[in-house]
Amino acid sequence: YGEMGQKIDYVFKVVLIGDSAVGKSQLLARFARNEFSLDSKATIGVEFQTKTLQIDNRTVKAQIWDTAGQERYRAVTSAYYRGAVGAMLVYDMTKRQSFDHMARWLEELRSHADKNIVIMLIGNKSDLGTLRAVPTEDAKEFAERESLFFMETSALEATNVEKAFMTGLEEIYRTVS
Ligand code: GDP
Ligand code: MG
Repeated sequence: YGEMGQKIDYVFKVVLIGDSAVGKSQLLARFARNEFSLDSKATIGVEFQTKTLQIDNRTVKAQIWDTAGQERYRAVTSAYYRGAVGAMLVYDMTKRQSFDHMARWLEELRSHADKNIVIMLIGNKSDLGTLRAVPTEDAKEFAERESLFFMETSALEATNVEKAFMTGLEEIYRTVS
């Protein structure tokens, strides 16, 4: 049962992955609590946050895991991926390197996670459009090639954040229901 006493029909574990400082923790803060912080410290302690929502008249509890500053390659443990039905692969659209690293994060993810995991590619910090280093087309191409969903977001301006999480969660719902 959820915080409001409602019956939970599904619990979906979703993991956030990607380089440090791309905005994973702020995307989660925005989605789970509608909060944002410009001077967010490296994530310490908090393993996951939950948000309970309705999909198709069912009560779904999204349990979204955030890396606790373990973003170095291969430092994220298999326990982090265990049981995940969704993943948000996040890069910073103003940092080309964070996008170039998506291929190996994806490889990591695929080697640890369930075959049917729903993966969403997220280009964050769209509010910094003038500093863009990753064309939308490059990301779209990569997403299509790898069969990922794709969206550009801004945790700061709350652009597409709800939509990105909900698109992923609805797709997960479709695959399990
Ligand atoms: P993480 O290491 O991936 O968890 O990244 P954080 O969520 O801690 O964010 C790193 C930095 O980027 C912080 O200073 C955030 O305030 C900032 N940040 C996160 N999302 C956005 C965004 O959408 N736009 C802008 N301009 N800054 C952001
Ligand atoms: Mg973080």
